[in-house]
Amino acid sequence: MSEQRETLGFQTEVRQLLQLMIHSLYSNKEIFLRELISNASDAADKLRFEALASPELLSEDTELGISIEIDKENRSLTVVDNGIGMSRDELIDNLGTIAKSGTAEFLQQMTGDKQHDAHLIGQFGVGFYSAFIVADKVTVESRRAGSEPVAAVRWESEGEGEFTIENIERAERGTRVTLHLKEDESEFAESFRIESLIRKYSDHIGFPVSLLEIGGEDEAAKVVNSATALWTRSRSDLSDDEYKEFYKHLSHDFADPLTWSHNRVEGKREYTSLLYIPGAAPFDLWNREAPRGLKLYVQRVFIMDDAEQFLPLYLRFVKGVVDSSDLPLNVSRELLQQNPDLTAMRGALTRRVLDMLKKLSADKEQYPTFWREFGQVFKEGLVEDHANKDKLAHLLRFATTHNGNDTQDQSLDDYVERAADGQDRIYYILAENYATAVASPHIEQLKSRGIEVLLLTDRIDAWLADGLADYEGKKLVDVAREALDLPNEGDDAGQEELTDEHKALLEKIKGVLSERVEAVNVSRRLVDSPACVVAGDQDLNPQVRRMLEASGQQLPDAKPILEINIEHPLVTRLSGEADAGRFGALSNIVLDHALLAEGTQLENPAEYVQRMNDFLLHVDSGAAGE
Ligand code: ADP
Repeated sequence: MSEQRETLGFQTEVRQLLQLMIHSLYSNKEIFLRELISNASDAADKLRFEALASPELLSEDTELGISIEIDKENRSLTVVDNGIGMSRDELIDNLGTIAKSGTAEFLQQMTGDKQHDAHLIGQFGVGFYSAFIVADKVTVESRRAGSEPVAAVRWESEGEGEFTIENIERAERGTRVTLHLKEDESEFAESFRIESLIRKYSDHIGFPVSLLEIGGEDEAAKVVNSATALWTRSRSDLSDDEYKEFYKHLSHDFADPLTWSHNRVEGKREYTSLLYIPGAAPFDLWNREAPRGLKLYVQRVFIMDDAEQFLPLYLRFVKGVVDSSDLPLNVSRELLQQNPDLTAMRGALTRRVLDMLKKLSADKEQYPTFWREFGQVFKEGLVEDHANKDKLAHLLRFATTHNGNDTQDQSLDDYVERAADGQDRIYYILAENYATAVASPHIEQLKSRGIEVLLLTDRIDAWLADGLADYEGKKLVDVAREALDLPNEGDDAGQEELTDEHKALLEKIKGVLSERVEAVNVSRRLVDSPACVVAGDQDLNPQVRRMLEASGQQLPDAKPILEINIEHPLVTRLSGEADAGRFGALSNIVLDHALLAEGTQLENPAEYVQRMNDFLLHVDSGAAGE
């Protein structure tokens, strides 16, 4: 048999993760037990599921359960389950590599600062490898359900660079994970310590967890947890701490969730759902292939992880369980997709999440955390889920000209409440970042008149604004578009008739810039700046254009419209410029500056610099000659 023994190296990422984890999670070390019990319970769940189709897998050993054995004398702790078990190949794959995509990039963010790294690892979830926080050697013996005793395997590692694997014979099905505890971790072989940890970590698991103390006074194993799946209990029996523990078991997160919602639906369709909003975004929130969705049970039998069919994509951060009484036990992903009840359940679960967020939005401490972590994903809902538009709109938060900083903490209700009577528009600007938005020429007039503007700087915001379109009867208006009607523009404040002189000036500028602009108009949105560029009402917003171009899309050319501030001294100067060359140069510079101010890159920066240098020279000599 021993010729079957092989020594293999861990995948590089595993090696890095092990080092970082041992270092950064030391203050949280007892979580290893939660992780191992979670794995054991998942293994029992998986076997129960496979046994639906192949009952012979259970053989005589039909009572699924977990036991923890502690041995003070040998300083060891063992987690035993009679679940699905692992074959040789599965052991090598599961405990030698990390399957999560994006792991390498994720590990690069580690800094060596304990708190920072522990927080990151919490978002990653460490699972089995956390055993090495307290153990200097881990032995795993496993036999896959349905295989012969001689097909069992032993995996062993000291958590350095390698592990060994060999075939063994094992009478029992399932997995035994033995932790050879480090010298100063003997507390984890103490029964009182382990008993309280089991209570803390596994009371809500649907399988019995027993404790056996080898060499102890009482050699019999005793069941320590209550062995009832948490969601099947009634809300009034459950404490917040129990809900939080269950969340950690479910999500492998180390931190508490922000909130949760536990409901039983009765009637035509019967199901229980327990939905959580995590406190921090997972490391792979933006990875399209990352697993997401709820854990699906049918009549308390685990069916699948990551059932993404129950919630829309923009709620992909929600964790939880749904336990249906009506779905068939043999439901697969494909069958689930076709199930006529699915649409109704998805609609109801979506509303649950939105209601839960509505409640959370009243919490001035928690809601900002939610928004910071998940706001950008949530905004996708305005595009994805039009039916719930009104509910979603209430939950949005923005940075606006009212705050004076870039925190997204103002709601549309806040905006509407502050708006003056007669303002029937909600104004917004799209920009690359907060600094560009808040200093943009486009909002000068609005600012000077005390009209609030939403400052939209996330990539998704252009689509959000389109999807939203209006709120409480007020239309959303992009301030960088040609048509912009400002509130309370009575007859006196309205467009004054242009003088012939102005008309001639516009024509003259247009003549010089005809290659670069669609039109030249007098602006009503400017105060301090001489000019700005706006998009025609049918054209793409320049911010959107830049994003599409950056993603490689070919777009037809579209020239902007130049708007000038007829009262600005620079424009007065332009109008008095007799020299045609200088008039041309100055007109181009005014346009270049308007483009730069909104964040557009100049097509020909060198030409601009040249123009500017010439001009500066002339300014000097001109001033000296006066
Ligand atoms: P995770 O549980 O997040 O997938 P782990 O590192 O804890 O990550 O485990 C990796 C894989 O090893 C699990 O997905 C599972 O397939 C397998 N595994 C771990 N523990 C057990 C066990 N007790 N029984 C069967 N399979 C297990």
